[in-house]
Amino acid sequence: MYPVYPPRLTEEQEEYLLTNLKDWSIAHGLAVRPAPSYVPTETDPSAALATTAPVTLFPSLFPGVCFEQARNVAEAYNELYAAIASDETWLKGIVEELVEIDDFMANLWKVHLKVKEEGYAHAFTLGLFRSDYMVHVDPSEPQPCVRQVEFNTIASSFGGLSSKVSGLHKHLLSIGAYPESLNSILTDSSLPPSTSIPGLARGMAKAHEAYLECAPTLPTCVIFLVQDLERNVFDQRHLEYAVNEHGIRVFRLPFSRVLKDTHVDANRKLIYTPPQSPGQRFEVSLVYLRAGYSPTEYDNEAAWDARLQLERSAAIKCPSVLLQLAGTKKVQQVLATPHSPHLKRFLPDEKQAAAVLKTFAPIYPLDKSEAGMEARKLATNPDSAVRYVAKPQREGGGNNIYRKAIPDFLHSLPESHWPAHILMEMIEPPEQNNVIFRNGETQQGGVICELGVYGACLWKQGDADGKPHITSNFEAGYLLRTKGDASEEGGVAAGFGAVDSVALV
Ligand code: ADP
Ligand code: MG
Ligand code: MG
Repeated sequence: MYPVYPPRLTEEQEEYLLTNLKDWSIAHGLAVRPAPSYVPTETDPSAALATTAPVTLFPSLFPGVCFEQARNVAEAYNELYAAIASDETWLKGIVEELVEIDDFMANLWKVHLKVKEEGYAHAFTLGLFRSDYMVHVDPSEPQPCVRQVEFNTIASSFGGLSSKVSGLHKHLLSIGAYPESLNSILTDSSLPPSTSIPGLARGMAKAHEAYLECAPTLPTCVIFLVQDLERNVFDQRHLEYAVNEHGIRVFRLPFSRVLKDTHVDANRKLIYTPPQSPGQRFEVSLVYLRAGYSPTEYDNEAAWDARLQLERSAAIKCPSVLLQLAGTKKVQQVLATPHSPHLKRFLPDEKQAAAVLKTFAPIYPLDKSEAGMEARKLATNPDSAVRYVAKPQREGGGNNIYRKAIPDFLHSLPESHWPAHILMEMIEPPEQNNVIFRNGETQQGGVICELGVYGACLWKQGDADGKPHITSNFEAGYLLRTKGDASEEGGVAAGFGAVDSVALV
């Protein structure tokens, strides 16, 4: 589609571009902790080193109509997922199909039930979402459109680095690091900045303000719940510093320390005691989860106790357990299975529902329903399976089964476990090229881009009707991730891709 992009650079041009890219990245925190395979732990015993985040040398070309389509639908998606997370009865129906065959979902549901029994102490829920898309070309349509890969309701990452990489590409343009032949394509207006850092921070500040309505008696803080070993720490720090700019204290709390450093008081307030100043007490307004989404993090009972402690507290959760469950691939499938009646239920506004529907790729259950039996035929036949991806109810990359691997994978499982997966049509975006810089090396070739649009939504639980009362709802910036086209997975943190920004065409 874009044969001349990016152009080949002379050795001198590449050196100029890379020197500036490396220095700007470190100077602006477009950085990650190095992988142990890249810098062995013996070389960096105190884990003090940082390295440039994997990035593309050039912004990738992206159709402007697709960019606008994805951004325009962000608020409707926020509303949709706020409504789903507020409809416990409907979610129960979904989860019940999976509890027998998916321990992780069963345990999350148990946390919800325990808190429900006691009564929820929080009134508000915060969603910091990222809806991911790829460009889809339908030969019968005049223009390309976006199709949704997935919708993330927990730990949506790269909002910090995304603002930075769009800044990097703008900087490289402004210092003449791109060849003149690109002057008509790369302009100030064709490179939209990503506002994800201020956008996501504003979402957290709104939640914090909402919490203050309950007249806290102690100094307040926001908790970033994090994993013990986090290479992508600067991505999170950028958000933290932006929340600080709203005058809000932030503490990073490793998931493994929840029971040590917090307790729930008689009024169900979540009280945090910083280990570095044990005489101080903070009342937690918001818990922002950048951990707790993977079963491997719950390898002991204490981890489930920790999750329960947070959930039953009055602190606002981003996300609550129900909102985490709303973000499963199963829910996405139930909405996107052709002729599904469910979207209308949650998005009564017809225009909004139509815009959301346009972004769905066909997704099928692998259960014994009519659609499921059709999907089973497609998934077990090697000729048709190549057009699909099978996904379990997991987050964080590296969990999916692609194309011709699907039939053998399914046959390795008891049939009763097939419904734990959904079957999704592969989106095949148009070919394009770029150069990825990771671990000190450049790789040039065919790439696939995935656009993420962040959304922030704060709502108060409705009364009897179960409908959320939304108090803030806005789009919160974008992310472009780019991977080599030989890799099915695109996770930057999982080691396959790079952060990128769009050059609108
Ligand atoms: P996770 O929650 O683990 O990120 P995803 O659904 O995003 O799961 O899948 C991981 C990656 O697999 C995506 O980033 C994308 O590169 C690829 N992928 C997933 N679904 C599709 C699809 N329908 N078409 C093309 N690629 C896909
Ligand atoms: Mg994903
Ligand atoms: Mg995900």
